Amino acid sequence: MSASSEVSVEDFETEVRSFLEANAQEKRSLEEKKFVWGEGDDAVAIFEEIDPDEERRNLADAKRWRAARFDAGLGWITGPTEYGGRALSQAHERAYARLEAGYETPDMGFFGIGLGMVAPTILAHGTDVTKDAYLRSMHRGDLVGCQLFSEPGAGSDLAGVETRAVRDGDEWLISGQKVWTSGAQYSDVGEVICRTDPDQPKHRGMTAFVVDMHAPGVEVRPLRQMTGGASFNEVFFEEVRVPDDHRLGDVNDGWRVALTTLMNERASIGSGSGGMGSGVASIDRLAAMLRHFGKDDDPVLRDELTRIWIGFQVGKLTGQRAADKIKAGQLPGPEMSIGKLALTHNLTALSEWTSRVLGPRVTADTGEWGTYAWAEYILGTPGMRLGGGTDEVMRNIVGERVLGLPKDPGIDSKSPFRDLKARASS
Ligand SMILES: Cc1cc2nc3c(=O)[nH]c(=O)nc-3n(C[C@H](O)[C@H](O)[C@H](O)COP(=O)(O)OP(=O)(O)OC[C@H]3O[C@@H](n4cnc5c(N)ncnc54)[C@H](O)[C@@H]3O)c2cc1C
Repeated sequence: MSASSEVSVEDFETEVRSFLEANAQEKRSLEEKKFVWGEGDDAVAIFEEIDPDEERRNLADAKRWRAARFDAGLGWITGPTEYGGRALSQAHERAYARLEAGYETPDMGFFGIGLGMVAPTILAHGTDVTKDAYLRSMHRGDLVGCQLFSEPGAGSDLAGVETRAVRDGDEWLISGQKVWTSGAQYSDVGEVICRTDPDQPKHRGMTAFVVDMHAPGVEVRPLRQMTGGASFNEVFFEEVRVPDDHRLGDVNDGWRVALTTLMNERASIGSGSGGMGSGVASIDRLAAMLRHFGKDDDPVLRDELTRIWIGFQVGKLTGQRAADKIKAGQLPGPEMSIGKLALTHNLTALSEWTSRVLGPRVTADTGEWGTYAWAEYILGTPGMRLGGGTDEVMRNIVGERVLGLPKDPGIDSKSPFRDLKARASS
């Protein structure tokens, strides 16, 4: 492995190919893999329903693959060399992703939040202690990270968090409850936003920390969702001790830290394809569905499918532009919110289209291949409209910051009706 930014993309590709050939199985050629209706697995879930033992096995496979990549110098291609990165360009990273897609590799979804959101926040706001303790081990796959932001009373209005952190010498004691924490059941570290000064205006009295998910006082309880699986959790903190050197950013400056994480979250969700394209809900699968049910000459369904497919491609490229800007150290503009909004719009359109093609077949399991399996996709779509900022909140951002429309009256805004009432009674 050569560790310098002087490696040309061509030389890097040669290095990647030899790593992949030595460590993974090449996928069968596209010709051989052509989708055939009724053959293979018909699962198309957005949130997989998976039993805990299988999840543990998949996680172990994913960790092995990340460790192999990292030890070969391919675990953090754009990252700083002091934490095991290669300090190479986005073009190198894209080359790796393109080449790896030609090989059978474990599902890396376990690391999406940790590496896509928590690690970039540690890099931007962490102390040397947290950077040394976590960046290398998270990128090597030894530690998995989760995002502990939402609470029963703080979702869209994240600044309403009530989980308290109280200083105790060189430590903080964290107590409270988080909710909807994806992947907390297998996470080792979490980024938690806490209230540290209830007397300050709410955006100013919060502080962010990196917390050990195995520390005494942390309790993770799974939440079962309507698709059947349990990918999120409630997380309870009871006087959990966190050293002050695990603080992210300054005391009471947690809002700025949270924004770094949210920016990365929206960009990484938006840059996904939601499974359409090369994924489970591929255009081949959808076209085959139309043919199988004798609807391939229906001009409306054909036209809609084409529009949906184009929408996914445009949305994905928009999201990727935002992700590339963030990784290049720039602030993304409207593309971040628009990319996320476009993805959920497209997922909803695809769910509605599929429901129309399949009709009652998605409501009851008759054992017919490729039909009821879509229920998990359709029921998973609303979750995507909420996670990472809801559609309504994204629209507010686009309306206010892109179109320059007047600010939406938030729950803390002075109500115009209150003014009117005050005036009327004076
Ligand atoms: C798939 C998924 C994964 C998630 N993973 C995590 C995670 O790992 N970590 C984590 O911390 N959280 C996670 N969440 C939680 C997520 O961030 C929240 O669900 C989201 O921020 C919305 O908050 P809420 O559920 O409290 O809804 P609320 O904020 O209570 O919103 C309820 C409704 O009111 C609307 N609304 C709220 N405010 C406004 C406004 N100002 N203008 C217009 N409409 C408004 C919303 O759009 C929504 O329709 C996840 C959620 C999902 C669905």
